[in-house]
Amino acid sequence: MRNRSSNDDATDRQLKLLVGLVVVLALGALGLDIWHATVTHAAMPNPILLATIFLVVAVAYRVKIDVRIHSSRSGSSWTEVPIMVGLVLIPIPWVVLCVAAGLTTIRLLNRAYSWNKGLFAVGKEVLVVSASGATFALLGVTPNATEPRATVGAIIAAYLVFWIVDELVFHPVIAVASQSTISKSFRQGLTTRAFSHLARLVTAIYVIEVLVSGASLLLLAFVPMVVACLHLWESRRLRTKQEREAWRQLADTTDELSSVDLNQVLYVAAGQGTRLFSADVVEIDLTGSGVNRVIRADADGVTYDGPGPRKFGGDSSITTDLETRDRSYRAGALVLDFHGKIRLTEFERYKLKTFASALCTAIRNAAAYAELQRLNEQNAFDAAHDPLTGLANRRELYERAEEYFGGRTDDGVVALLLIDLNHFKEVNDTLGHGAGDAVLREVARRLDDAAAPGDLVARLGGDEFAVLLVNLVTPALATHRAEQMLSALEATLEVEGMQITVEAAGGIALAPGSGGINELMRRADVAMYQAKRAGQPTATYAHSQDTADVGRLMLGGELQRAVAKQEFVVDFQPIVDLGSGEIISAEALARWQHPEHGYLTPMQFLETVERSGQLPAFADAVLDQALAAFCVWREAGYDLPVAVNVSPRSLLDQRFPATVLAQLSHHNVPADRLVLELAETLTISQLDTVGRALAELREAGVGLALDDFGTGVSPLSVLSHIPVNQLKIDRDFVTAVETSSEAAAVIRSTVDLARSLHLTVVAEGVESEPQRHALWELGCVAGQGHLFARPMAAARLLGALQRGSGGRPGSLAVPLHDGGAVVRLPRRRPSGGARSALPHQPA
Ligand code: C2E
Ligand code: CA
Ligand code: CA
Repeated sequence: MRNRSSNDDATDRQLKLLVGLVVVLALGALGLDIWHATVTHAAMPNPILLATIFLVVAVAYRVKIDVRIHSSRSGSSWTEVPIMVGLVLIPIPWVVLCVAAGLTTIRLLNRAYSWNKGLFAVGKEVLVVSASGATFALLGVTPNATEPRATVGAIIAAYLVFWIVDELVFHPVIAVASQSTISKSFRQGLTTRAFSHLARLVTAIYVIEVLVSGASLLLLAFVPMVVACLHLWESRRLRTKQEREAWRQLADTTDELSSVDLNQVLYVAAGQGTRLFSADVVEIDLTGSGVNRVIRADADGVTYDGPGPRKFGGDSSITTDLETRDRSYRAGALVLDFHGKIRLTEFERYKLKTFASALCTAIRNAAAYAELQRLNEQNAFDAAHDPLTGLANRRELYERAEEYFGGRTDDGVVALLLIDLNHFKEVNDTLGHGAGDAVLREVARRLDDAAAPGDLVARLGGDEFAVLLVNLVTPALATHRAEQMLSALEATLEVEGMQITVEAAGGIALAPGSGGINELMRRADVAMYQAKRAGQPTATYAHSQDTADVGRLMLGGELQRAVAKQEFVVDFQPIVDLGSGEIISAEALARWQHPEHGYLTPMQFLETVERSGQLPAFADAVLDQALAAFCVWREAGYDLPVAVNVSPRSLLDQRFPATVLAQLSHHNVPADRLVLELAETLTISQLDTVGRALAELREAGVGLALDDFGTGVSPLSVLSHIPVNQLKIDRDFVTAVETSSEAAAVIRSTVDLARSLHLTVVAEGVESEPQRHALWELGCVAGQGHLFARPMAAARLLGALQRGSGGRPGSLAVPLHDGGAVVRLPRRRPSGGARSALPHQPA
């Protein structure tokens, strides 16, 4: 991941050009030197002298490198003195050779530098020495070992040239390399440099003057000592300055490291690491902390960021553990790699330790922050998602919908599809919750796959799902999309090796203009129940079929109050013997005496009750009142079995049979005086569950009637599952009995079926004498309807019983004309076994 800009490349090219130029000039100077030496017939100098100069120069270079604290320039070198002396004693080419050879040797021994830098250093020295030598030559100083002569002026001039050329060659290159200006580079440390040069110049003059004057060489004995002192003082000064600079850099870097972004921490550290320690490569190896990641950088930036192992760590590297000061946390290791073997000063070691521990703290903080971030995200996800399926949850759906209603999204036309799985409870009950979960997950997956981009699929809880359909081009498209989603559930799914078919009902509602998400939910719910009732996969909300006004009121906790304050009352509609007109039983029909809305019929409130948690309380209240009425009538001498309507939802409640039996014993009513009317809307799979509960009640003697018979899908399969003993012919057939031969045929076959199964039949909604007549002729002997009486309060029914019709208490109508002609079984009180509260079918 080398981060090189074109700028860096340009710098590189410039630098190479400059170094090339210096090297070429140096070669030229060397050529000139050699030519000059041959012209002047310079003889080979004394080898001992040559070796001495070479050695002294080499040692001076060696000292220079040692002093260097991995910074670009120390300036603290004493090579100038032997070079000046050499130029006075031996021909220039030999001095140049000594310098070049000495420097190269030292460089080769200490390979902390690149070739580039090495070539430049040697080239520069060659130029500088040549220029200085040329100055001597111009001023008439001819090198002569046996008779050295040089004036102070010549030495000063040669030294000045030496210095000037050195500065001229040095600063452009440094300016380019450090991407600053020449003048800035020149001004940096100028005073220190000037002072050092002065000290060297004085020393050079002194040494040369001693040699020139032919004085005792002993006078030179204390020179090394002076040089050593000056050198120490100088390098100390320099070191202090550089240390101060290093601390500043370190402080800046640590500031930069205080980021919560781990990547930034690592990249800054790797990049600054090369600068802080003048390392060629820096590696940050996190594998020690269990994260397989290594970051590598050189002076140009990060060159690698990927899995380990790290590449460096050998002899030329310094490896530091990245751990906090108290060693409580380990982030990995920091590796500094150099061109050659290197030994850090104590200060540098300390600096490295400080840097490593700052880096470690930064890594720990960034990692902790990342973990916190991850936890936050996880929490946010958990709060918005269903753990079982991973779908959005109810809250998320509401939030998204609220955004829509608040105009904060541009979702276009929006609709809600509410999906409820049919008989999911059975899967749970029969196959266990594990299987149930698997089914829900699979359903979730399929819905998610079938959803269009942008749609939000949510699980609301249990077996209820919802899909927010967005960006519908036309509202009509909602139905199409909903059907697609539901058809995705059609294919059988395999759970624990079993093939399971999932049936579902979906309710669709378009986002309403007012009422927000709650109204949208409610409408989709209404539609879903329509779909369920109609046995269709989907239904779309229609205003006309909504019992909204009341329904909405009741959602506001009204139901609870209604139950508590006994606002639910029960009316009774007599069931009569069609032939004699006698009352043979009564059907309990619930009403809601609403304090504001008045007398509400089941049509208006039943759906809401069924869907609320209040159904058991409601059913219990109705049963209680029905049995209480039975007792009142019995007291008065009328033994009228009472029929109570039961919601399919109650039947799915496992506690239902026990509640019924408890009520019977509470009122002290024999079980066979109670008939439970069951809607035929139960589906086959529900029947299995319900069948067991009903068998229990049937066993106890409770009568079971199939309500609205003939309207359901498969009456025969219902009969085979449920031990009913009465069929109630739906009002639709009764209404049409005179006009439609089909209706008549249904009634006749129902009567036939009942006879062969030993069941009784009751016709509902008998409104006229001709209907009564027709029913009688078709073999139906019992009925209820407005012809005889509307539903009424228990007390009124008692009054009607007592008054009777045509002076016959207990009857509501005159007997049929030909009633006597029909052979009728006498009304009898059944005793034991399959008893019936109703007359048996006429033979
Ligand atoms: P259903 O069981 O079919 O009840 C008969 C319905 O027909 C009653 O309506 C009754 O008032 C009405 N009816 C009776 N004779 C005639 C007639 O000659 N002509 C016409 N047009 N209608 C007649 P209601 O009371 O409104 O009840 C409606 C439905 O509500 C009932 O239908 C029953 O399914 C349900 N229901 C009533 N009470 C309860 C209850 O306590 N629990 C449950 N779960 N459902 C109930
Ligand atoms: Ca009924
Ligand atoms: Ca009915």
